[in-house]
Amino acid sequence: MSTYKQTCTNLLELSNSKVTEWLASFDTVITDCDGVLWIYGNALEGSVDVMNQFKAMGKKIYFCTNNSTKTRAELLKKGLELGFRITEEGIISTAHATAAYLKQRKFDKRVYVIGSEGITQELDKVGIKHTQCGPDPMQGPLGEFMAKHLKLDSDIGAVVVGFDENFSFPKMMKAASYLNDPKCLFVATNTDERFPMPNMVVPGSGSFVKAIQTCSERTPTVIGKPNPAICESLLNPKKIDPARTLMIGDRANTDILLGFNCGFQTLLVGSGIHHLSDVDQWRKSKDPEDKKLIPDVYLPKLGDLLPAIVNSQTGGSY
Ligand SMILES: [Mg+2]
Repeated sequence: MSTYKQTCTNLLELSNSKVTEWLASFDTVITDCDGVLWIYGNALEGSVDVMNQFKAMGKKIYFCTNNSTKTRAELLKKGLELGFRITEEGIISTAHATAAYLKQRKFDKRVYVIGSEGITQELDKVGIKHTQCGPDPMQGPLGEFMAKHLKLDSDIGAVVVGFDENFSFPKMMKAASYLNDPKCLFVATNTDERFPMPNMVVPGSGSFVKAIQTCSERTPTVIGKPNPAICESLLNPKKIDPARTLMIGDRANTDILLGFNCGFQTLLVGSGIHHLSDVDQWRKSKDPEDKKLIPDVYLPKLGDLLPAIVNSQTGGSY
């Protein structure tokens, strides 16, 4: 067990030798992307150097994102363009993990997809049939729509819900109708509620999942963080040792909770969604679920680790 288990220890307040010790306590790093490595397509200061240093130290590196709109290949391209030394195998995305989840269960029917091409392309890669994504707008009043336009396919065996900017009433109706069959699987890529932007809020996948959950009266299997299913390909073949794995994130109810659920060490960075003030709230909270959100260690941003890494490698007295 980590020395700092759920203490939210600020790494900047530790001595050099303690940080060096901490750096040696893990050999796998799983990191969230948005808010940790980059924001709006720009790498956060120092994050590229820190990740590449981890790799140079011989640690296994995985990028883990709940963003279901991108395939692994697209995420790889983005990471490489920003200067991260990663490979496609080092990328864990909900779209890929969803396809892998169905494949592992030998799914051989067709998937009704509420989402984007990130999902359909990953399904194509593992040879799973699916409906196309894109607009499916309401046609006419409800009675006319049901009589003339609503077509349900008989070969659908799963409904997958992710981020869908073309979400609509007909999609809700179809998904709920398919899910009326208890044998039809209900899989959600992730349940992130929303993406805060300056002056507005973009609904996240969780908003669409809740809508389908409500009208279908079913509970989905959630693939994305904080559900360990997203790490199934690492945990089940025992590719990694959870106790010697560090999970880095900026959102506690996805990233840090995933770390808690999988028995990983956890590092919260303050460059995105959650901050030290949130951790203070969870410390005071009486809800045991809130306690799970408290990380082992904390840094204002990932790049702050760079001087300590350089120091640990040179053995200098910084
Ligand atoms: Mg994030």
